[in-house]
This record gives sequence, structure tokens and C-alpha cells, in this order.
Amino acid sequence: MSIYIEPLAKLVNAFSKLPGIGGKTALRLAYHVINAPEDEICDLVDSLKDIKEKIKYCSCCGNFCEGEICDVCGDSRRDKSVICVVKDPRDVIAMEKTGSFRGVYHVLHGTISPIDGIGPDDIRIKELLGRLDGTKEIIIATNPDVEGDATAVYIARLLKPFGIKTTRIAHGIPIGGDLEYIDEVTLAKALDGRREM
Ligand SMILES: [Zn+2]
Repeated sequence: MSIYIEPLAKLVNAFSKLPGIGGKTALRLAYHVINAPEDEICDLVDSLKDIKEKIKYCSCCGNFCEGEICDVCGDSRRDKSVICVVKDPRDVIAMEKTGSFRGVYHVLHGTISPIDGIGPDDIRIKELLGRLDGTKEIIIATNPDVEGDATAVYIARLLKPFGIKTTRIAHGIPIGGDLEYIDEVTLAKALDGRREM
């Protein structure tokens, strides 16, 4: 039997299932809800319901969207001949925040990871191959980790017969970063990703 009355125990339990929320934080949030104004909680409940109902995936690129296609795919000013391949819709947001990419995206919804039983057919690689018409460049921007690199290599190999320029983003040294203080993996990547000036 819980020491909390049923509705409180239920809410604490629900909060504690969220990422990064431990028991103490869950309890603090639940107390906050009890004391919060009615309309604040109604807004929260509405947003929670909306997100499951209204968030869909773009039928073209796999990004988050509300309708059939996402804002990026629907924007006539974006260069459709350059496709940036990312793991997750969150990566699209990260790229968009930089403000420096004017092409479109392709979201894989995962990366190849044999350990986790995720193979090429489990992520949206087929869909990428199906939208290559008119494509001049594919920029592979999966994470600089084992899975991200393996996925990049796999895709690059698949694209070879199509004769489309394929590039990998250089995971480099942060601006203002000091070579001395950067871990060797990052530094090696930066070296690998060097470009002609
Ligand atoms: Zn899209």
C-alpha cells in the first residue's frame, strides 16, 4: 500500500516514468499540480493530449509535422536538390537552429545498430533511395558515433551507383576550441573531415 492517497500516488507514478525524473522530482511536480491554478493544469492536459493526436511524420522526409508534409518540405525556397540525412527529427531542429542549411532533410528514425537488432531495413533508407530524382548532393549528418558512422558508410555505398555527390559533415573542433583540450576522438574526426582551402 502506498503512503500517498490514490490520485497522488498515480500522478507520482506517471511523472516518474518520464526521462530524467526521479521519485523526488515526481513528487515535487505532483505537489505543484495540486497547488497550481486550474487553467494552468488544463493547458498542460490539453498539450499532452494534442501532442499524441496532432504530431505526425512528414510523408516525404519523416520530420515532425502537423499535416501531410512538414514546413521544410513545403517551403518553395528550400533547395530540394540537397538532402541532409539525419537520425532523428530532433536533429532537424538542431540543424535548423544553425540557420545555415537551405536544403531539405531525410530523417532515418534510427541508425544501424546490430547490437540492438536494428538493420538497414528498420530505418528509412528505402525511402531515401526512393526520392533521389533531381538530387545533386546527399549530406550525411548522423552522429559521430559507431552507429552513426556505420550508417553513413552503408548509405554512401548504396548511393555510389547513382553517381550523386555524397558528403559527411565534419565533426570538428568547436569555434574557439583549443586543440590541446579536445579529446582525441573529436580531433581525429576533425582531421578526417578536413577540406581543401
Ligand atoms: Zn518533410
